[in-house]
Amino acid sequence: MKPRVCCDRLDMLLADAGEKLFSVIANGTGPRRGFFLQARPLDRDVVLPSRATDAVEPSLRRGDGRPASIAVVMELHLSFCPSCGRDLAAWVRAHAVEFDALAREGAPHIMKTPGAG
Ligand SMILES: [Zn+2]
Repeated sequence: MKPRVCCDRLDMLLADAGEKLFSVIANGTGPRRGFFLQARPLDRDVVLPSRATDAVEPSLRRGDGRPASIAVVMELHLSFCPSCGRDLAAWVRAHAVEFDALAREGAPHIMKTPGAG
């Protein structure tokens, strides 16, 4: 059973990790533990063109005709629950073991930076 952090809405956001639209992911170890709000405007299985210039809609070009870059995953560190306002950093400090279990579930969904694993 997953540890309870605060409210039903955060439970749902944690359960939606890696899915389209908004989710919350636990990530990090030691002093870098934290919750992240993740936004995905596209489904995970959408295949983007290998070269942006090949198949980008005209509306996704800059004024000079160059293709616009598109962020397909965005993450924001959360200090407080976006639904009920609970102090998430305090919860993490008091529940390291439970947090680490959530972080293991969230790990496959964390945004990868270029050049990272
Ligand atoms: Zn909450």
